Amino acid sequence: MGSSLSHRPRKRFGQNFLHDAGIIQRIVQAVSPQPGQRIVEIGPGQGAITLPLLEACGKLEVVELDRDLIQPLADRAAGIGELIIHQQDVLKFDFGTLAGDDRLRVVGNLPYNISTPLLFHLIDQSPAIQDMHFMLQKEVVDRMAAAPGNSDYGRLSVMIQYHCKVDPLFRVKPGAFNPAPKVESAIVRLTPWQQPPARLDDLASLSLLVRTAFSQRRKTLRNTLKKLLPAEQIEAADVDPGVRPETISLEQYIKLANQLSRMKT
Ligand code: SAM
Repeated sequence: MGSSLSHRPRKRFGQNFLHDAGIIQRIVQAVSPQPGQRIVEIGPGQGAITLPLLEACGKLEVVELDRDLIQPLADRAAGIGELIIHQQDVLKFDFGTLAGDDRLRVVGNLPYNISTPLLFHLIDQSPAIQDMHFMLQKEVVDRMAAAPGNSDYGRLSVMIQYHCKVDPLFRVKPGAFNPAPKVESAIVRLTPWQQPPARLDDLASLSLLVRTAFSQRRKTLRNTLKKLLPAEQIEAADVDPGVRPETISLEQYIKLANQLSRMKT
C-alpha cells in the first residue's frame, strides 16, 4: 500500500484522485453493481471506485495506462475479488472483445484531457455496452445533455444523444479530488438506445453533416452546408435553411443526413 500512497499524481494522465468517501459511495450507489455483471472501469488509478465495485460484484476488469499504478492496485485488490487489469491506452481499447453474451457496464472517473475523443470512441462501441457512468467536467456533461436552442447544444449533444439516453446525476466539487481540478465535475449516466431514435441511413453522413453545421455556429445552415446540401435539399428534409445549427433537433439532423446519403448515391 505504501507505494500507491507515495504515487505523485501525473498531470499528463489527467490524474485527479477521488478521496471524498461520500461521493465515492454515491457513485457506487448510482452504478448499483450486481454479482455476475460484466463491469469495466476506465482509469482505476489508486482504486477509489475500483475496490468498492469489486467488493460488490466479485470480479472487475480495468483499463489503466499508467504502469506505475498497476502493481499497487493489484496488491490492494488481492483478497477482495478477481481484478483483471489491462495496462493499455483506453482510446485504443476494443470493448467489444470483452463483451460476451452480456453487454458491458462501463464506469470511470475519466481523465478530462481525453474526455471528448474517449466519448466518441465509446459511442462507436455502444452495441457492446449496457450503460456507462462517468465523472466528467460539468461543462462536458452540460454539453452532452443540452437541448436545441441552448448555447451548450452542439456536435457532442447531437452525436451522444443519437446513441444514448443522457441522464446527468449529480455535481461534484473540486475539493473531492486530490489534486483539486480547476473545474466543477458531474456524474452522468449514458444508456445506449436499444433502437436508434429515428431511422438513419448512414452514420458517416450524420457525423459529417453535424461537424460541418457546427463548424460555424453563428451562420445559417444555408451558408454552412452550402457545399454539402444545397438549400432546396435542406428544404426537402423539412428544415428551414435560414436557421442556425443550434436550433435543429436530432430528428431534423437525421432527416438532413438521410437527404445527404440519398444525394451521394
Ligand atoms: N479512478 C481513480 C479515482 O477516481 O481516484 C482515478 C481517476 S483519474 C481522474 C484518471 C485515471 O485514468 C488515472 O488513473 C490515469 O492514469 C488514467 N488514464 C489516463 N489516461 C488514460 C488512458 N489513455 N487510458 C487508460 N487510463 C488512463
